[in-house]
Amino acid sequence: MNTQPSESRKQRSARRAGEFPPPPEPLAVPVFDSHTHLDITVHEAGVPGGGDDPVEALITAAAKSGVDRLVQVGVDVASSRWGAELAARHPSVLATVALHPNEAPTLADLDEALREIETLAAEPRVRGLGETGLDTFRTGEAGRPAQEHSFRAHIAIAKRYGKPLIIHDRDAHEDVLRVLDSEGAPESVVLHCFSGDAEFAAECVRRGYLLSFAGTVTFASAGELRAAAALTPPEQLLVETDAPYLTPVPHRGRPNASYLIPVTVRALAEVTGRDLDTLCAAISANGERVFGPWR
Ligand SMILES: [Zn+2]
Repeated sequence: MNTQPSESRKQRSARRAGEFPPPPEPLAVPVFDSHTHLDITVHEAGVPGGGDDPVEALITAAAKSGVDRLVQVGVDVASSRWGAELAARHPSVLATVALHPNEAPTLADLDEALREIETLAAEPRVRGLGETGLDTFRTGEAGRPAQEHSFRAHIAIAKRYGKPLIIHDRDAHEDVLRVLDSEGAPESVVLHCFSGDAEFAAECVRRGYLLSFAGTVTFASAGELRAAAALTPPEQLLVETDAPYLTPVPHRGRPNASYLIPVTVRALAEVTGRDLDTLCAAISANGERVFGPWR
C-alpha cells in the first residue's frame, strides 16, 4: 500500500486527524496491540497531531499510552508486503500476512496471491498468517468456495512455517471450527475481534486458542461478549484495536488507534474482575510467547 499520501489524501488526513479521541491515562504496565492496520488508519483517518511520518507518529502515540508493541496485520498482498517491510525495520512492530476472507474471492488469480503470501510468511519478523478465516456476512454464496480454499491454504502455510494463525470469523463460528478440524489447527490460533458468546468462547478455550478482544467489548449491547471475556483464562486472552475500526466507548464514531488500547484493557479488567496491572502483564507475556520476541 502506498504510504506517500497524495495532496488530496493529505488534506483529508489533516481534516480527519482532528477527529481522533484524546489520549487516555497511560497504562502503568505496558501491553501490546495484537491487531492493528497502521496503513489503513493513515489512509482513512490521518494521524493524531499530523506530522510528516504518520506511521511513526501512531507508534509513538501508542508507546506514550503504554502500548509499546504492535502487530501490523495484512489484508492483501500489498498491505502484507508493506507490513513485512515496516516490521523488518521497526523494533516495536511485528507483522502478519494474509488475504482477508472478503478479499480472497475477488482475486483474479487467488493461487498466485497465496504464493506471494507464502513467500512473505518466511520472513523473520512476519510472525503470523492473518487475517484469514470465514465471513458469511460480507461474502455471499458465490464467493464462499474461494474463501474457504484461501482459509485452508493459510492454515497450511501457518503450519509449514510454524507461525500463528489469526482468524477473522464473522457469522461463521461453526464453519471456522469445521475447517480447523479438517485441516488440523496450527499450534497457535488467535480469534481476532472475538465475537462469539460464552458457549463458543468456552469451546475455543478448551481447544487452547487465544481470544483477542476489541473495542466491541465496551459496547452497551455486548453482554454476551463480556461473558465470553470473563471466562477466558488470562493466559489465553489478548487485546486489540483493529484500528482504525471498532473504536471503544465513549469514542464511537471517531477513528481508532493503538494509543486507545488502555480504554479497552481497562474494560476487560473490570469485566473479568482482575487487577489491571496483572492483566496487562499476562497479555504482554502472551504476546511474547505467541508472536515475540519483538526485540
Ligand atoms: Zn483487522
